[in-house]
Amino acid sequence: MEGPGNCTVKNDCGSSVREWPRRLRSVSTPRVQHLQLALLFIFVFLLARPVAKDSNIVNHLRAELSIPNEVQIVVVSYDPLVFSLQPMDTHKDRFLLSMELGFLLMLDDDELRAALAHELGHVWIYTHHPFLQTERMANNLGLRVANRASFEKIYAKLWAYEGASGVPIDDLLGPPVGAQNVPRSVVSETRP
Ligand SMILES: [Zn+2]
Repeated sequence: MEGPGNCTVKNDCGSSVREWPRRLRSVSTPRVQHLQLALLFIFVFLLARPVAKDSNIVNHLRAELSIPNEVQIVVVSYDPLVFSLQPMDTHKDRFLLSMELGFLLMLDDDELRAALAHELGHVWIYTHHPFLQTERMANNLGLRVANRASFEKIYAKLWAYEGASGVPIDDLLGPPVGAQNVPRSVVSETRP
């Protein structure tokens, strides 16, 4: 791996400027083509691993949420919504779940489960109450099969990833279960 500035006796240093076209032509040798092919396989393999793992989790969650619809997963380098879900046909039999690789790699297993549960929540709403499609409702469904702490961590990571300020977490998840059971009178009595 020598650069254009590495001159030898046979190769006059004054010709270094003309070396670039020759070196660029040499890039397409069979050896380099094999290397490119190997890199392509490695890239596909690295992408295939998370997709296979996520498909497995999605299939378990579909069973837990009684969702019969097919959900196909795709990992992309950029998704304007980071993670998104959309129907693949007018009958809403099949859905495409898109995940941005950079954010996907930030999630641990519990957070990934919660993120996928949220997206499957959107599937359920699409097929039951399509006009009530909201983030809060998708989370309500996701919370049936994933814990609240994981959802809170996902949103913290998402807002950091997007550089966004975020919103109050209870607006997205509802009040914590314990808080829902506290009578209003008890709350007011503790105030000064
Ligand atoms: Zn959503």
